[in-house]
Order: sequence, then structure tokens, then C-alpha cells
Amino acid sequence: MTIEQKRNLVTAIPGPNSIALQKRRMEVISAGVGTALPVFMDEAHGAILRDVDGNQFIDMGSGIGVVTIGHTNQRVVEAVQHQVAKLTHTLFTVAPYEPYVKVAEIITRHTPGTFKKKAAFFNSGAEAVENAVKVARKATGRTEIAVFDHAYHGRTNLTMSMNFKMHPYGTGFGPLAGSVHHAPMSYPFRDPEGMTGEEAAARAITYLEKRVGASQLAAVFIEPIQGEGGFIVPAKGFLRTLDQWCKANGIVMVADEVQSGIARTGKWFASEWEEGYEPDLITVAKGIAGGLPLSGIVGRAEIMDASHAGGLGGTFGGSPTAVAAGVAVLEQLEEGGWLERSLEIGEILTTRLIALQAQYPIIGEVRGKGAMQAIEFVEAGTMKPNSQAVEELVRHCHQNGVVILNAGTYNNVIRFLPPLAISDELLHDALDVLAAGLEKLAQ
Ligand SMILES: *Cc1c(COP(=O)(O)O)cnc(C)c1O
Repeated sequence: MTIEQKRNLVTAIPGPNSIALQKRRMEVISAGVGTALPVFMDEAHGAILRDVDGNQFIDMGSGIGVVTIGHTNQRVVEAVQHQVAKLTHTLFTVAPYEPYVKVAEIITRHTPGTFKKKAAFFNSGAEAVENAVKVARKATGRTEIAVFDHAYHGRTNLTMSMNFKMHPYGTGFGPLAGSVHHAPMSYPFRDPEGMTGEEAAARAITYLEKRVGASQLAAVFIEPIQGEGGFIVPAKGFLRTLDQWCKANGIVMVADEVQSGIARTGKWFASEWEEGYEPDLITVAKGIAGGLPLSGIVGRAEIMDASHAGGLGGTFGGSPTAVAAGVAVLEQLEEGGWLERSLEIGEILTTRLIALQAQYPIIGEVRGKGAMQAIEFVEAGTMKPNSQAVEELVRHCHQNGVVILNAGTYNNVIRFLPPLAISDELLHDALDVLAAGLEKLAQ
């Protein structure tokens, strides 16, 4: 299935078929499951989503960084079709199958670090994070876990306890899990001017040493570029300094690359942007299987092997169709071109966004790496977060056929996670829509 790579609106947004479906949905779907855009999608290809009324949207979010390789990538579709007709389930821990092993073979080649690595696969990002907590505790014999301000790690009981934002992720769902400690993050835009990565790391380390004690910590979890928190890129030296402290104190360093990994930032993993940073474990999910549910943990063999047999697993984790899709994605990444494309997309985005920043003082900062870029909005001439501008811009983009995502602790960030299959022309078209929205706001 292919769809012309063109934005095209044929009804008001949402169209009549979406409105009818939304009515049905309100009757039977839990209110706890929200929706950013009440438009029902029917099919997609490349960087275009087509709704049930025939409207075509440019996808600037990839379903939150999932279809990195593009919607209905032909080789992913073929791999899944082939696998689904052959073998859909045994449960890997009952009787194994090859593609599960193959995903591990490829991914262990590309995670940072020259040490021997092993992997294990699950369904969701949160499940990967939980399993990383399990193996880190088992490997160290310690209980305490450190996370960072503005972090996001998932929606299960343990991971919602690891998130910075109690609301909306934890409110009313407690008691939350204990033994989780939130340390200050390096946030160059909002930290004291001139604060280096080493200084920001020292601030976090001092806090953890005083509050918890290094000898009590099993693991430090950090997103090398924070996702939901607003694409916060820590100052250079922050990750490396933390990593050195972890290694000196027997603490497992876990990079949560669920959003930033798999070619998103112009490297296989965002961790690679920081020289000398070698996380012990990496969690992966979103972009790894072209839209099929697959997550995993990859890292030091001795940590991954610390669990007794039967300690890790789950009925559907690394199911045959999901790992077949994973192989199709990872093989294409290995064949090359994708990292370069991610960097080119980053160039186009930053060039255009920095030009807009010069024009509109509500754009406080443009930041990111490769095809993971964001703008943080402020009230003109201040550092005050401007969530209203984001709300209005997101609405403007939706009304004009561009699916765009917000982010940020203060809801004042617009993030760009386009599929790497997007053309320059579509990317510029989406940015033209955003620019028109900014002009409208300024009037
Ligand atoms: C999305 C995300 C998760 C949770 O993944 P799910 O598949 O939604 O459970 C965890 N960590 C990060 C960094 C994420 O972006």
C-alpha cells in the first residue's frame, strides 16, 4: 500500500466520519485514555497519515518516535506478513525461534561499549525499564534507584514512580513504589548561566550521596536526551561524569533510550553523542520494530546474566511477529543511509527553527540532535514557560493537516520526531504550516 506523499484536506478537521467514531468511542472507551487529536486514522505510508474522511496529514510525531523508518515500510510489512503466516507464538521461554536471537545479534553490535553484551525482549518501554531495575538490583544486591527531574519512564506502578511528573502520570494511582530517588537534571536553558555538565553532575551526585548514599544505589536511570520532559539535552560532560561516578561506586548506569534510540538522533543511540559515556544497560522500544510492539534491554553480559533462569520473560515478550519486524528495521539501518538522513532532517529543522526564533521572541530555545528536535516557548522577553502558545500552535497545525506533538514539564515545548522517510518537500510544508501559526499568534 502506498499513499501519495502530500498533505491534503478534503473536509473540516475532524471530518464527519471521525466525529461519528468519536461519539462511539466516548461510549465504550475509558476516559483515562486521552487523545491529542480526535481524528480517526485509516491508513498510512511514509510520512503521511490518511484519516477515515480521506484527509491526509503530515506526521511530525511518528506515533511518538515509533515509525522512525516510516509508516508501512515495505520490508517491515513483508517480514510481518511472512512471519504471521508461518509462526505467531510459542513463547520464547517455552520453545525459541530464530528472529528473537537475530534481533539480539544485531542490537548488541550497535549499542555503545566494547564489552560483551546480551539482550532480552519484552513488549513495552515501561516493561523494559522495569526489567532493567530487576537485573540491576539482582546484579548489585542493592535496592535503591536514582532518576532525574523531568524524566519519563512509563505508566506501570514502578515506572510511574520514576517519572518526574506526578500529574498526570501518578495522581490518585498511589501508593507509588518506594526506593526511587529524583535527582536534579542538567537543563542548560534553565540552569544558572555557564553551569558546565561536570558542575551539574556534581550537584546531582552530592544530592544522591547525601540523600541515599552511593553504596545503597543499584542503578541510575537517565534518558540521554529526555523525551516527554521536553527534549532536554544535558550539558556536555554531564553523562560522562555521572557514568564515572557510577563505575567508581558499583552502580549500574542505565540509559533509557526508548525514545532517543534507534537512529532517531543521527546515531544508533543518543548516548553516543557524549564522548566517553558507556552505559552498562540500554533500554529500547519505540523505534525498534516499525510499529510492532517490541522492547528490550541490552547491556553488559554479566549484569544481564545475573538473573536466575525464569526471572525474566512474559507471555508475549519478543513475539515472533514483533521480532521479525525488528529484524527488518535493524537490517535496513545496518545497510546504511538512515543515520545520514536523520542528520539531514536535523539540519533542515534547526535551520528553519532558528530563523523563526530570530523572528518570534516567544521561541526561547531550539534544541535537539538529528531528527529529534524541539522548541521551548516562553513569554516574550522572559523565561516564563508559555504553554498557551504551544496549545494554540498544536491546534493550528492539526487544523491544517500536520500532526505535531507537545512535550515538556511545563507543557511549553513542541517536539519534532518525523519519520526518517519524510521528504524535504513535506518537511518544509509542515514547517510552513507552523510558521503561519506563529505569524497568526504574533498578530
Ligand atoms: C515512551 C517511553 C517509555 C515508556 O514506553 P511505553 O512503551 O509507553 O511503555 C519509557 N521511557 C521513555 C524514555 C519513553 O519515551
